[in-house]
Amino acid sequence: MRVYNFSAGPAVLPEEVLKEAAEEMLDYKGTGMSVMEMSHRSKAFQQIIDDAEADLRELMNIPDNYKVLFLQGGASQQFAAIPLNLMKNGVADYIVTGQWAKKAYQEAQKFGKANKIASSEDKTFSYIPDCSDLPISEDADYVYICENNTIYGTKFKELPNTKGKTLVADVSSCFLSEPVDVSKYGVIYGGVQKNVGPAGVVIVIIREDLIPEEAMDNVPTMLQYKTQADAGSLYNTPPCYGIYICGKVFKWIKKMGGLEAMKEHNEKKAKILYDFLDSSELFKGTVEAKDRSLMNVPFVTGDADLDAKFVAEAKAAGFENLKGHRTVGGMRASIYNAMPIEGVEKLVEFMKKFEEENK
Ligand SMILES: *Cc1c(COP(=O)(O)O)cnc(C)c1O
Repeated sequence: MRVYNFSAGPAVLPEEVLKEAAEEMLDYKGTGMSVMEMSHRSKAFQQIIDDAEADLRELMNIPDNYKVLFLQGGASQQFAAIPLNLMKNGVADYIVTGQWAKKAYQEAQKFGKANKIASSEDKTFSYIPDCSDLPISEDADYVYICENNTIYGTKFKELPNTKGKTLVADVSSCFLSEPVDVSKYGVIYGGVQKNVGPAGVVIVIIREDLIPEEAMDNVPTMLQYKTQADAGSLYNTPPCYGIYICGKVFKWIKKMGGLEAMKEHNEKKAKILYDFLDSSELFKGTVEAKDRSLMNVPFVTGDADLDAKFVAEAKAAGFENLKGHRTVGGMRASIYNAMPIEGVEKLVEFMKKFEEENK
């Protein structure tokens, strides 16, 4: 029996995708082997990665002057790769709206001058600061954001005014959750294990002119975008099986109607939960309403013991991974693309019942 899995990541995947992968496990399309067992230089795998890229380009409407890279090392490795590749003046501006943005900001300090130009740490990252007129550094190579803050449940509803500087965004937890105008970014990247696939793949979408033209002597070969772009993500063995599953998820999203349909589906789900939180006398959301994420919904009762009781009873009832991050406490429901609407409806029913019983 499958549970409703509200994990922040690795997270729920579409059941259809898992079933298809199971069917192809022993014999992928007549090759007589699993995708796990095949050469990354084989025709069959080249087709898998080419199709994955083509479908992602179609879904996100990625302009031709952007490269799509399927890499390893998770989102965290990009915290270093971005400054190593993009810092030409050695300066970058960071907007710190949560732990992942903070980690990226701290990592960048190893490689150049990273400026924190805005932060919401004063209120436990429960809001997105006003980014309409920030003190952008004149010589900044880029402005960095984490677009959806997985732990705190906030999302940039409007991109910051970068005053002409290149925007770099970590979209790990909102990847493919709604339409996006890729041309507004220099780099969009994300670990796929939140909303797109299994852990082990990070996708980097980068405007070609930001890729250094020459190989760099002082940067590890594997961390150079040039290496990966020149080799079509096949400089070394890529995370083959993960890319294959991502490809299936792209096809599933296309079948569901693309990113417009995903947005509608996600807004509908989130509204059910937020409407209940706004009407509940026991539970309340922890985030400023205007900045609420469609993907990650933290909430509390205000009483740590009652929170723990809720998490335990929810688990027994088939709602898994609702415990909040230790820095926020309480609960967090991650309701990514693959979470069905019934999952959220049933969770809210359960919360209502819990509220009745614990008045
Ligand atoms: C999970 C997460 C990360 C870290 O991802 P890894 O792949 O584990 O390095 C970074 N940024 C955001 C927004 C995340 O949600």
